[in-house]
Amino acid sequence: MGSQLSLDESVRVVIVGGGYAGIAAANQLKSSGIPFILVDMKDAFHHNVAALRASVESGFAKKTFISYQDTFKECFKQGKVAAINLQTQHVVLESNEELHFSHLIIATGSKGPFPGKFNEVSSKESAIQHYEDLVKEIQKAKHVVVVGGGSAGVEMAAEVKTDYPDKEVTLIHSKVALADVELQPSVRRNVKEILLKKGVKLVLGQRVTNLDQLTLNVAQEEINLYLDKNSEVVTTNLVLNCTGIKINSTCYIEAFVNEFLQVKGHNNIYAVGDCVHLKEPKMAYNAGNHAGVAATNILHSLIGKPLKTYKPGSVTMLLSMGRNDGVGQINGCHVGRVLVTMSKSRNVFVSKSWKDMGQKMPQ
Ligand SMILES: Cc1cc2nc3c(=O)[nH]c(=O)nc-3n(C[C@H](O)[C@H](O)[C@H](O)COP(=O)(O)OP(=O)(O)OC[C@H]3O[C@@H](n4cnc5c(N)ncnc54)[C@H](O)[C@@H]3O)c2cc1C
Repeated sequence: MGSQLSLDESVRVVIVGGGYAGIAAANQLKSSGIPFILVDMKDAFHHNVAALRASVESGFAKKTFISYQDTFKECFKQGKVAAINLQTQHVVLESNEELHFSHLIIATGSKGPFPGKFNEVSSKESAIQHYEDLVKEIQKAKHVVVVGGGSAGVEMAAEVKTDYPDKEVTLIHSKVALADVELQPSVRRNVKEILLKKGVKLVLGQRVTNLDQLTLNVAQEEINLYLDKNSEVVTTNLVLNCTGIKINSTCYIEAFVNEFLQVKGHNNIYAVGDCVHLKEPKMAYNAGNHAGVAATNILHSLIGKPLKTYKPGSVTMLLSMGRNDGVGQINGCHVGRVLVTMSKSRNVFVSKSWKDMGQKMPQ
């Protein structure tokens, strides 16, 4: 803990959510000597950017979950936050336990279907097992369909086809252009070329009409998918859903923030990461930058220094198209394939401690 900072005993920051934003805030508060408690429903940080690689490669998932307790000791509490009482300044857990805060950082991120996200109250072991089970299901299937051709879907299709080139892989997307709208057209075309070169079959401009009725992530003899604009039925053995990643706002009202990342109307409450409404893509990289501003502003507010402002970042997005291939955009520039894959995989392969992980984040 920082030695020079002398704080009033009432100072206690509660951070809700230990994703990229929450752990970056916790690390910074820790090095500034500001008392905090980090709350997450899981007992381990999930290195989300590597979730899809962990879905195809056995033994990989264990590198993507890192115990909070090992790093933050008694400053970590496992629990699902059910409500925030702004009047009394308490965070209320599902267990009814209440945690008082002088300052609050909301970092509840986004939620979406497994395997892209893992949003369950769970232990590290069972989270890892979920991914290991999926690897086995993918190995069993002859034909895999990925639904959703945003950034998660294109990565998923590429990961399966790269590790299992003999499997038939089909990607179904409701729009004609693949990957995220924030990306340059040349990057999106590059994504399509890579998928086609790998032999992924693309079904574009078509929506699956029976997705809700399908059993996902489990290999079966025959699964039929119906499309909205075409009478063709796509028959497969396994369906992976990569659609519908949403802001996780179950425990608070949607977070609109000012330029200091303070929730409007509350100068002791900050919101950071994917759960914030800002004009920039929802990225781990940006989430870490928000956290830096929020933690700095808590420190500055305590020592009477002017607050730092946050300026939404430019588009930096790296898509891993299988272990040997990638494409992306860094600060708006379309970047080469090998460079992207190198930086993305390096950040995952050696992340043993928080410090390592921070240094290996995609730049
Ligand atoms: C498949 C995939 C690949 C991606 N690849 C990249 C990439 O290569 N580079 C990149 O920069 N970004 C990438 N992203 C985006 C990146 O993962 C997100 O921007 C990032 O995870 C946001 O971090 P966060 O901390 O805001 O939220 P999250 O990572 O969503 O973390 C939120 C945390 O809050 C916890 N939580 C939520 N609600 C509660 C509650 N009520 N009580 C207690 N705990 C709660 C959750 O358990 C979770 O740990 C990818 C996303 C996906 C889905």
